[in-house]
Amino acid sequence: MSRHIYQYNINSEQRFFLGKEHHDLYDLIALNGNIVSHAPAGVAAFVANAGKPFYVDPQTHAFQHATIHLKKDISDKEKKEPPNYIFRPSIKKLAQERLGEPFSKVIDEDRPLRPKDFTTSDSELNESLLEKVCQNTVDFQLKTLSDSIDDEARELLGGSSAFKPEFILAPYFYLSPLSYENWLNLNLTFYNKTKQIVSDLPVFLALVISKEALEEGLSEIVAKIKKTKPDGILLWIDDHVEEELNKKEIWRYVDLLSALKNTTETIYNSHGGYLSILLGHEETGPLLDGVGHSINYGESRAVVPVGGGIPMARFYMFEMHSRLRWGDALGIATSNGFLNSVKDYLQNICSCIQCASLLKETKSAAVTFDLYGDSNELTFRRRSGAIVKLDYPTKEAKQFASRHYLYNKAREFDTVRSDDLTTLLNRLKQTYEKISPTAEEEIVANLFNWEQALVGRLKK
Ligand SMILES: [Zn+2]
Repeated sequence: MSRHIYQYNINSEQRFFLGKEHHDLYDLIALNGNIVSHAPAGVAAFVANAGKPFYVDPQTHAFQHATIHLKKDISDKEKKEPPNYIFRPSIKKLAQERLGEPFSKVIDEDRPLRPKDFTTSDSELNESLLEKVCQNTVDFQLKTLSDSIDDEARELLGGSSAFKPEFILAPYFYLSPLSYENWLNLNLTFYNKTKQIVSDLPVFLALVISKEALEEGLSEIVAKIKKTKPDGILLWIDDHVEEELNKKEIWRYVDLLSALKNTTETIYNSHGGYLSILLGHEETGPLLDGVGHSINYGESRAVVPVGGGIPMARFYMFEMHSRLRWGDALGIATSNGFLNSVKDYLQNICSCIQCASLLKETKSAAVTFDLYGDSNELTFRRRSGAIVKLDYPTKEAKQFASRHYLYNKAREFDTVRSDDLTTLLNRLKQTYEKISPTAEEEIVANLFNWEQALVGRLKK
């Protein structure tokens, strides 16, 4: 059964992981290494409280990108100070205190890591350095939280021995289009060495890959991974927006998963949408064993910039299986009469706890839908200096939308677990036929493409 993973990025999202209401909506917590390094006691208490299995992403790849992505501007804009970029304290701590050499060089020398940082002067892999990197990365994932846990949380867990991640991630780097071979070799060496260190937990290989590297090197990459036989693979394809994939790209994705399934038992996609959830259907193999996202964002993610990104005003339409811009969702809802009455809303848009309670309160479908789009105009300055104005959802609208989103994602997992694949694919087709006459082609195209690509293909 495919597992439902929530990415934990910032502390203000805690409420969506905790409590009886949320507990049953997901299966596994992905903790980002940055926050674990920065505030271990708080994160430890949170994880103990959530009572869910977790893993820690050591985010070693963050240090191979241009260092600007690891910095923030601390200048005072009010005083018209020129920009002043410094390394974010959490990143500095992760590099210097947790991961050590050569990650600390990124801070000291203000430059990204390259494969040669892991080799000796005669271009051989620096074995002792690699071992140390693996040891530090393992210690970070195993010990940072359990060492910081307070007595109250320890009691909740019934002793600290239970406080272990579900699996360990070997140090990893992104397989960039230009030099993926070097990075892949390094990642696999890291994997083998980590396997020697960790005996009581599964070790996963993180496969973070660009679409270009995938296209060019799929068979080579898979052949090498096959030799390593990892316990599991944590997949992340750079900026892989499932709604935007054409049929050929979907096939390539399915091919990748089928090929990887010959190398390991377990594959989790850390950033995926409904297409990935469908590929966790038993009738597909399953090709995926888990899919992750953040709280109303993160179904796809670019490798840079490193870190969260701003969750924008979006409304998740269950039948469309997509986080639509609120205005686009409104267009579909009005064109199809979904806002004519409370009953129409419940039947065609959503009947989750959040929507139901707003409908009860407002007694109006249109007013309820409007609450999800409530926004303020936000003015800010881009790095280029340009002043940008954006409609930014109010705090309340954001919370409504997040809660609604999480119920809908859980519902997707539930339907994929209970219904047969033909029924699910037929539903995509029916929704496409219903919505497409009045909607922008690009908003509905995903339903058509997913159905067309998966029908037949999966039955081979
Ligand atoms: Zn809802």
